[in-house]
Formats: sequence, structure tokens, C-alpha cells
Amino acid sequence: KSARVMKKAVAYLTPFLEADKLGSGSSSAGKVLMATVKGDVHDIGKNIVGVVLGCNGYEVTDLGVMVSAERILEKAQEIGADLIGLSGLITPSLDEMVHVAREMKRLGISIPLLIGGATTSKAHTAVKIEPVIDTPVVHVLDASRAVTVAQKLLSSERDLYHTDIKAQYAALRAARAERTIKFLSLEEARARKPMLEFAPVKPTFLGTKTLEYSISSLRDLIDWTPFFIAWELKGRYPYILDDVAVGTQAKELLADAQNMLDVLETKLSARAVIGFWQANAVDDDIHLIAETTQTVGAQRAAPLQHGIFHTIRQQRDQREANTALSDFVAPLESGLQDYLGAFACTIHGAEAVARDFELELDDYNSILVKSLADRLAEALAEKLHADVRREHWGYAGGENLTTQDLIKERYAGIRPAPGYPAQPDHTEKKTIFALLGAERIGLELTESYAMTPASSVSGLYFAHADSRYFAVGRVARDQVIDYAARKNISLEDAERWLAPILGYEP
Ligand code: SAH
Repeated sequence: KSARVMKKAVAYLTPFLEADKLGSGSSSAGKVLMATVKGDVHDIGKNIVGVVLGCNGYEVTDLGVMVSAERILEKAQEIGADLIGLSGLITPSLDEMVHVAREMKRLGISIPLLIGGATTSKAHTAVKIEPVIDTPVVHVLDASRAVTVAQKLLSSERDLYHTDIKAQYAALRAARAERTIKFLSLEEARARKPMLEFAPVKPTFLGTKTLEYSISSLRDLIDWTPFFIAWELKGRYPYILDDVAVGTQAKELLADAQNMLDVLETKLSARAVIGFWQANAVDDDIHLIAETTQTVGAQRAAPLQHGIFHTIRQQRDQREANTALSDFVAPLESGLQDYLGAFACTIHGAEAVARDFELELDDYNSILVKSLADRLAEALAEKLHADVRREHWGYAGGENLTTQDLIKERYAGIRPAPGYPAQPDHTEKKTIFALLGAERIGLELTESYAMTPASSVSGLYFAHADSRYFAVGRVARDQVIDYAARKNISLEDAERWLAPILGYEP
């Protein structure tokens, strides 16, 4: 909010300052170029960092989202940037950041790099980015730290600070190199899969269906804790409202959010598409099968076109069963007809509303709109899932849960999303989108498999009472080779998409 006042004041004063020849940014603490990398569309965190830097006297140039390495580096040179800040939400962006760093080295650009965003980490920065570049590169955990880091990098302390960071990152790399995980072979891991009983329930329809929801019907289902996290206010809702440190701000933010939601009710729309298919597990894949083609007994029926989901199995030597999502669907050899669902849902219109606020130099409300659209998308996924369980699939007709129960996932079944721990491969979204015809609700995928509009959720539906979220964790090379063959892609491609979970050096 301070930024809003400041920006408007600066916009008002600039012509006078220029007339007085006092302007031209001579008092800037430094020039920062920021961008969300190619293929990625999220920018809430980056925008907050930009605002905080701006409030601290930095001159911030923000190139927005989906920005290529070429454009970032061109612009950095053009404006004479002192720092470059890269942001990304999804794991493929990690690779893109490494690419930007390599390009900097190749072109001899030695501007310090700040790395931030949900999927980034100190470990990734240390292991993958720092080694390819000579200039300082620092992982910045949150907006409040960005200022300290920027100050250090642009002061006489820079070399000392760089040496310190380099030592920290070298230690992280050494720790990483020492870490050994005991893996099972893929075959052994498969032999230790959970043994579930199956009692499949047939959905009320097979095929796809589009649905629309009113924004007002979603408001009560909003999970507010992640909203405060997005704003870097720490604490669980509703207790955060009475927090000694941030309670007052949290209350104010929530009141602003509620007022904004009143406005957004008429400006945004909520759309969804769901689908159900007959399905069986074939090893770690899930085959969707045309309804009539399967004969009882383990006869292999041809899967539908685009109708194979590939899942990844936990491969650590662990006490619990080694799980893959495919375990939650009846195996083909059981002779049972089981089912799988998929969904995609999106909140439309937020970008335009946010842009209008930006044009009025009102970053606060622009960020508020985007963070609320994200919340509404999750609320939509929650509502859709409840309707699926009660109605469309109908396996939990009597379910009657409160919003709290829903947020705590006290229901049967899961809706795992590609790119999350149970299926870390974002490219599986392509299959979901093709099967659902997600373009019908205005949803698209970028080259990194981010969904646009940004406030969207997609995933699979499993109805099995024992299905649960889990993390695949690291995997060994034999599984990646097998996965590549199943997906009909090269090993190199598989290693690129699975980079965050590889348990070996490719
Ligand atoms: N109520 C929260 C939900 C966060 S989790 C919110 O409003 O933000 C969001 C989604 O991530 C879940 O609905 C599910 O689709 C997915 N998810 C969570 N954990 C997962 C896991 N381990 N594997 C796969 N998907 C997961």
C-alpha cells in the first residue's frame, strides 16, 4: 500500500523534477530487472519483491511473465541493470533459469542474479546454477530478504558477500554429493506395491462434461491460509487474525480481500471440464479403455487414443509399500472394470482486472486480484471435486462436509495434479488436456506445461477409499529408462522433465 502512495506521488512529481533537472533517477539505489522466465506464468511473489525493492529506492523494470532469456539479457544491457531477478513457479522453470545463467556466461554479462519463486531452492541454485556462472547468484527466499541481498550485492561488501555465498553453496554441493539413497530396482519396487481391494463404482456418465460456477458459490470454500502465505504473512487462518505480530495487517488484508471479492463476483467467471473413463492399471500405467472393448478375464484391450497415463513409483528402499498412482486403479489382470476421472478448471478475467489496476499504478490491488483468483481456482477445484464425489461420479452420495473438513481432505478419493509430489512430471497435463478438450474452457498449456490463465487447476480423480497423496521422491535410472520407453520419449527428454527427482547424475 505504501508502494501505491509512493508510485502515485512519484508519477505526480516527475514532471516537476525533470523541469528542475533534478530528476533522471540519480538517487536510485540501483537498477533491477525482473522477469518470470519463459514458459511460466506466475508472478505474485515476483511482483511483491518488485514492490518491496521499489519502496527501498531501487528502480525496478519488470518484464512480466513468460520472458525468454534473450529478452531478459537484451533489456538488462539496454537499461544498464545492476541486478537481474528471475522468478518461476513450476519445476521446468528451474531448467530455464540454468539456461539464462549459461547465456549470461556465454555473452560475458556479469550482472549478479537473484533467484526466487515457489519451486526454486538454495540447493538447486547451488547445484545447478552457480556452477555455470562466474557472477554472484543468490537464492532469495522471500521479499523481505531481497532488499538486504540487493544492498550487499551493490555495496563495497560485494566481494566479501560473494565469497561467503560461494562457500555456503559449495558446502551444499558437497553435502549433496555425499548423500546416497538406497534404491530398489524398479522390478523390486513393483513387487512391493500396496495390495488394495477393489470395489469399483461406475460414474453416472462416461466421457466429458463442461460446467460453470458462480464466483459467489466459491467464496465460502476459500482456503485462506495459502492466501496469507502468498502475501508473506505467516500464520494459520483464522488464528493469524489475532496474531500479535501480523494480526492487524492480516485483518486489514482480509477485509480488503472481501471487498475485492464483491467486485470480482461480476468480473470473473469460473469454468470447468470433467471426464470419466473406464480404466485399468497396466504395471505403472493407467489405460483408459473404451467401454465395450474389455472382456472379463485378463485380455489386453487397446487403450483409447491419448488414453494412457504414466505414473512413477516410489523407489526408495523403505518400510512402507512402494506406491505409484496406478496402484489406486484395478489392474487389468483383475478382470474388474474400474474407472478414472480427470478435471481442469479455471478462473477467467483476472488478468484484465489486474492490468487495469497496474495502469493506475496500483500494485496492491493488482496483486490482490491475482492472489484472490488463485484462491478461487483452488476453491473451484474443491467444489468441483465435492460435486464429483456426491453427484457426477456419485461414489459418496451421502457426503456432507464443512469447508474445514474439505480443506483437511476428510473425504474419500484424491485429485492429484501433474507437477506435484505424487506425479512430478508436468507433461502428463498434455494427456489430461487432450482427453478433456480443455481448450473448450479457454485453458492452454505453455511450452513448460504451465496452465494459462494462471489461476487454474487440473488433475486426475481417483475414487478408491485408500487412495492418498504421497511423494514419489527420488528415482533410479532403471525407472527413468522404463518411463521414457513407456512414454515413447528419449531418455534425455525424460531426464529433463524428471530432473527434480532424479536420484543420479544424468
Ligand atoms: N486447500 C489448498 C489445497 C492445496 S493442495 C488450497 O486451497 O490451496 C492443491 C492441490 O494440489 C490438491 O488439490 C491436489 O490436486 C494437489 N496435490 C497436493 N498434494 C499432492 C501430491 N502429493 N501429489 C499430487 N497432487 C497433490
